[in-house]
Amino acid sequence: MSSQAEKPAINLNSLSSLEQLIDVLSQGLVVLDRDLRIVLWNRWMELHSRLERDKVLGRVVTEVFPELEQKGFVWKVQSVFKLGNYAFFSQRLHRYLFPLSTVQYISGRFENMQQNAVVSPLRGEDGRVEYVCVSILDYTDTVTYQERLEETTRRLEQMAQTDHLTQVANRRHLFDRLAQEVSRTGRQDEPLSVAIIDVDHFKLINDRFGHLCGDQALVQLASLLKQNIRPYDLVGRYGGEEFCLVLPDTKPDHAAKLVERLRVLVAETQFLHKGQCLQITFSAGVSSNDGQPHADADLLLSQADEALYQAKSQGRNQTVIAEASARVQC
Ligand code: GH3
Ligand code: MG
Ligand code: MG
Repeated sequence: MSSQAEKPAINLNSLSSLEQLIDVLSQGLVVLDRDLRIVLWNRWMELHSRLERDKVLGRVVTEVFPELEQKGFVWKVQSVFKLGNYAFFSQRLHRYLFPLSTVQYISGRFENMQQNAVVSPLRGEDGRVEYVCVSILDYTDTVTYQERLEETTRRLEQMAQTDHLTQVANRRHLFDRLAQEVSRTGRQDEPLSVAIIDVDHFKLINDRFGHLCGDQALVQLASLLKQNIRPYDLVGRYGGEEFCLVLPDTKPDHAAKLVERLRVLVAETQFLHKGQCLQITFSAGVSSNDGQPHADADLLLSQADEALYQAKSQGRNQTVIAEASARVQC
């Protein structure tokens, strides 16, 4: 008994079987001849292009879809005919090859079906490439999931770095950035300054206007600080009513000028909450790695803190620079 004779097999040479197989595929199949005329257009293509086979067979593909020209389609197809290679159109680069519709179960964010496509050579008996087959995969759902995941990851990263109340950097992110900047500026021998800002008599503001009003004052203060520093500076919430500025590429006298400008701005700003108007001031201590090449984050913070303490004890609403040997009052 021959085992070969028992194997069930489909006769792929039967035209109707092949046609049926091509038509039940859940991907697009288009075959083009050397003149780029469409010689095969499967059912999937009919459904998603809303163009019946009879309307496209025999027509030059770029006449039916002129936008293929802009995607380098003709050039790639000609290379497949010439070299017998495979050509790819990735969704990341082109978004889509053919303007096709798709059912978007997850969201309707794309106007056209997102596609990955491959152009493959089809050879005759003499080995010459006679046709090319363009196969198209619907990538819309995958891209939608990918983009959602990326968005969620970005949002989570942002949340993990942001102070919930004031929306500036939280303490962890502040310390991470400070450590990075200390190491970068140390390597590149660049100045780095740090300022600790502490609202004056904030307890009294809470007592007089209420805790919610105090919260809103902190929100407005943080936003004012954020809006008035350079894009590469960082403001973070150091503690309750304390903020910290990380100022790369900034010498101590420049840092003190910047902090003084902020101090005056804050002192002149009316903070509003539910029709109540209040004014706040802050005291600040500034430290810098300038002249202290081995200064680390802890040293910079403790020096800024000492300078802040001095600003408080000297009457508040002022900025003090900590220096390795002497302190200077602005
Ligand atoms: P000083 O000028 O010496 O800094 O006085 P101060 O009153 O600002 O300092 P103190 O450390 O005595 O009090 C800080 C106050 O800040 C007390 C605390 O309840 C308040 N505070 C801290 N975090 C928050 C917050 O998130 N919201 C509000 N509303 N108040 C806060
Ligand atoms: Mg404080
Ligand atoms: Mg305070």
